[in-house]
This record gives sequence, structure tokens and C-alpha cells, in this order.
Amino acid sequence: MMDHAKLAQLLFPHVTQTPQQVLEEIFPPRGLKEGALVTRFAPSPTGFLHIGGLFVSMICERAAHTSGGKVFLRIEDTDKKREVEGGVQQIVQGLRAFGINFDEGPIGEDNAQVGDYAPYIQSRRAEYYHVFCKDLVEKGLAYPCFCTAEEIAELRARQEEKGITPGYWGEDAKCRDLTLEQIEENLKAGKPYVMRMRSPGKPGDRVKYKDVIRGDIEMEANFVDVVLLKSDGIPTYHFAHIVDDTTMRVNQVIRGDEWIASVPIHLQMFWLCGLKAPKYGHIAPIMKEEDGSKRKLSKRKDPEASVDFFVQEGYPAEAVVEYLLTIANSN
Ligand code: GLU
Repeated sequence: MMDHAKLAQLLFPHVTQTPQQVLEEIFPPRGLKEGALVTRFAPSPTGFLHIGGLFVSMICERAAHTSGGKVFLRIEDTDKKREVEGGVQQIVQGLRAFGINFDEGPIGEDNAQVGDYAPYIQSRRAEYYHVFCKDLVEKGLAYPCFCTAEEIAELRARQEEKGITPGYWGEDAKCRDLTLEQIEENLKAGKPYVMRMRSPGKPGDRVKYKDVIRGDIEMEANFVDVVLLKSDGIPTYHFAHIVDDTTMRVNQVIRGDEWIASVPIHLQMFWLCGLKAPKYGHIAPIMKEEDGSKRKLSKRKDPEASVDFFVQEGYPAEAVVEYLLTIANSN
């Protein structure tokens, strides 16, 4: 029998807090009136402000403020390759020019953090991801995986050949059942590892949820042991979303509909962590009509995908805002 507490201590000796302590002592409930929405806009600091980003942040701002709640800006910089210098500043100023004022976030002078739920920059929240991951290990719901990139590539090729869902699951998930001794040996040998969630799902399981925009949605449930922490200890988007939106007391996630496919993973993660999931609202992308057909605005092909385009062309901010609000309220 695996001693989960021992494994958790072995992997996270530096973590001394529990999720309960973090939630009670560092990030307590916001004490807002019932029905007040807490939303967030969570871009990567690429500096590029897509018109769709302005659209989503505007809806987040309206939803929060018309309900007596709060909206904040969170910078999702777990993928350092996508970061550009001054990117945060560009986002804050770009949105401000269109009247989007956040209550909290890296919005002060020189990106100083404003608000009680700081840090609002993911790379500075590592300790909290580790607290929640350690807790999962203690419960036997997460484990270290030492498979190399080559092994994962082989696994994918095998799964493709068989025509089954790609990913770390089923008999291919070989690190699932490593013994404590094997793990200790791997750690001693300095082998890199990622942390994976032990999914309780199996192919064919279904999951249902109610999207505040799209209504009832039913999808295949997750059964893949997805990565929680990468080998450098930085979380994946999925896990960061669970921990951040919980600790920052978000109750309404509003994001682009490219994330709908990930909802089964997210709901399962919230459930395994013993946390209440926020409500989700997924927004359709802004489309462009061209030659009689419609397609998503493309960052590469369409200059009007960038918010800067409207500024440079001299469109008054009010006109752009009015246009976007009309789309948002198009019944
Ligand atoms: N960082 C994610 C993105 O760039 C955020 C998605 C979300 O709002 O949860 O799309």
C-alpha cells in the first residue's frame, strides 16, 4: 500500500500549509452581497490585445459591476516563451483607453499590484499551486510521472495506431502505480518529473454542466491523467485556473469558447480538490464575413484583430465600445 502522506512529504517538503489554511487565512471570502459576481480577465502578457480580449474583458467588467461585484486582471505568464517585455503595461493601458477599469490586478504604477488577492501574476503564485498539489498527493489523487518526452511520443503514436483517445491513461499510464521505493530511486537519480492528476474517469463517462451563456452542455467526461505541474514546478493552465479562481474567489468565469473542450477536465479537478467550481460562461469568437462565408478574426491575416488598429485608424473609443456592447447584447 502506498503511503501517500510520505510521498507528499517527499515531493513537497517545502509546503507547510494546507488548502484550508490558505483559503481561510490568506484569501478569505470577499464578503460581497449575495449575487455579486467576481470575474476576471486573464490574458498572457504577449502585449497583443486582440479585439476579442477587449470584448471578453468588457463583458467581465459589466457582469461584475452591474451585480455589485468585482473584476480583476490576472496575468497568466506560465508560458514564458509567449511573454514580451512591457506586455502587462500594454494590456492595462490598452484596456483603460476603452474604459475598462479593473478593481484589482497589476494595475498600479509600474504594474504595482492593487488588491487583497495578490499576487495577480501567476508566476508569483507558485507556492499556492504546490499547496493544492501536495494535498492531492496526500489523498492519492496525484502522482509524479517520470516518462520522458520520447516515451510520451511513443505512447501517442501507439494510441494513434489503435485509434484511441490520445493522452496518459489506461494501461499506457505506467507511472500511475509506481511504488514509493521506485519513486524514491527516480528522485535520487535526479530524473525530471511532472505531477499528474489521477483521473477517476473511464472512457464513455459523461458530464453535464450549465453554461450561463450556452445553457445545458453534455460532454464526454475526462479520463486522462492530465499534467498539474510541469517539470519546473510551474502549473499547467488547467491547474492554475483551479487554484487561482478558487483562491481569488472568482464565482463567474467568462472566457472564450475555445475553452469549452477543457471544461470536463476543470470540473473533475475542482471535484478531486474538494472545491466548488465557479459558473462558466463561454463567449463565441468575433467573426469576420468574407466572400460569403464566416471565419474567426485572425491575428495574422486581419489587422482589425488588434485593438491598436482602431486607435491608429482614429475610431473613437466610444464607438468601438458601443459596437462591442451591441454584439454582446444582440439577443
Ligand atoms: N490565459 C487564458 C487565455 O489566454 C485565460 C483563459 C481564461 O480566461 O480562463 O485564454
